[in-house]
Amino acid sequence: MKKMLAFAMAAAMALSLAACGGGGAASSNKGGTSASNPPAASSTPAASSTPAASSTPAGTPDAVTTLEPGILHMSTNAEFPPYEMLDDSGNPTGIDVEVAEAIAKKLGLELKVDNMGFDAALLAVQNGQSDIAMAGITVNEERLAVMDFTDSYATGVQVVIVKEGSEVTMDNLGDFTIGTQLGTTGYIYASYTPENGGYGEDHVIGYETGAVAVQALISGQVDAVIIDNLPAQSYVEANAAAGLTILEGTWVEENYAIGVKKGNEELLNAVNGALNELKADGTFQSIVDKYITAS
Ligand code: GLN
Repeated sequence: MKKMLAFAMAAAMALSLAACGGGGAASSNKGGTSASNPPAASSTPAASSTPAASSTPAGTPDAVTTLEPGILHMSTNAEFPPYEMLDDSGNPTGIDVEVAEAIAKKLGLELKVDNMGFDAALLAVQNGQSDIAMAGITVNEERLAVMDFTDSYATGVQVVIVKEGSEVTMDNLGDFTIGTQLGTTGYIYASYTPENGGYGEDHVIGYETGAVAVQALISGQVDAVIIDNLPAQSYVEANAAAGLTILEGTWVEENYAIGVKKGNEELLNAVNGALNELKADGTFQSIVDKYITAS
């Protein structure tokens, strides 16, 4: 979709500007025009997301330093099925959790999942309170400025959920009130001004979780919810009686990766090496296939 491409580019540019501006706030481009445009220096973040080679030979894994010896702490927000959710016993499960378990095993570590809010999961890894963050986290320039990422392991497609029979379309979203999960790229991009490809903050409400945003749609507080495709499908199915549907088309397409504290190259390389081994030996795909059945 051409419009979406234009939107994505506008969003990327806005993110570059936000990153350059140094304000650090999530949506610092409010007001649209970039009065003091800095020179085009920092539009390309350090290429730390593509380290050269695996540092984890088969057999005895290299000892990698983690917060707690022998443990790999993963911060997450277990509200994002099928990537992370709680099972019937209240334990975190899902693609991200199983991939992290396999990575930990390759590194000779035991995985410990720390479940918290989405924003908190990102902050935890930035502040050195967790070793890795996995939460279907989209890589974007704003985040690359404050944390490092492994290679991408999935494509995330954000979609729009509406009530069946709704007059909301992909093209008139800006005329309505949109629910999102706070801190997510859906929230950030939708909040941009229309000149920057969004709908303006007045049109967007951020909720603590995607599930709460969907409840707000059902109860009529918002007219649409922007959220990643797989959680969207799961929420629509879980609320079948409410008559929800996903609009045809893609709102934005993104890449998910594992977040690591900025500058911790040793851990980044180790985790990235393990991730790439899991991709190469088929383990990664077999985990995905457990949770996502081709339709
Ligand atoms: N992919 C989106 C983001 O990174 C949403 C992730 C989530 O809600 N867990 O912002």
